[in-house]
Amino acid sequence: EMVNFTEFFQHIIDRFEMTKEQNVTFKRKLPKTELFVEIDEDKLTQVLYNIISNALKYSPEGGQITFRVKEFDERIEVSISDQGVGIPKENVKKIFERFYRVDKARSRKMGGTGLGLAIAKEMVELHGGRIWASSQEGKGTTIYFTLPYERTQEDEWS
Ligand code: ATP
Ligand code: MG
Repeated sequence: EMVNFTEFFQHIIDRFEMTKEQNVTFKRKLPKTELFVEIDEDKLTQVLYNIISNALKYSPEGGQITFRVKEFDERIEVSISDQGVGIPKENVKKIFERFYRVDKARSRKMGGTGLGLAIAKEMVELHGGRIWASSQEGKGTTIYFTLPYERTQEDEWS
């Protein structure tokens, strides 16, 4: 169905902000305008839930998580950045593989199965989008994904 992505994203961020137990600040860089995309809300909720849970899990005390949405001609680009431990360069692409976890010992302590991002990738690609990561060890990680988007006639006329 057609969903206003900005509003949908705000609600999900709100939920995490209200329930988080870590001392982590949320920063939102979202457009003020409505951005309608054709999505399955349940599936996109799962995508965002997986990505944001990771960002929180790997954030340091007092860290910041930044949420961004950018509008392009035929897609929107969503990104979630943290200031956490980061991922070694040679492993950045592998994090979307099933059961892949960067540091076995660290990951065991953190809990989880290593499926979160594999599921996110599957769901994003089902929507016709792409997902990728950029990361710097010791500085942080950003997960990006896109969703196909068409400017509506109303947008063009206003
Ligand atoms: P699950 O999501 O099933 O609970 P998980 O979080 O370990 O388990 P994924 O979400 O698929 O699994 O992530 C895979 C691996 O990628 C993680 O184990 C972790 O090593 C690394 N990773 C993912 N997100 C981040 C992040 N924001 N910062 C640092 N490492 C990350
Ligand atoms: Mg995860």
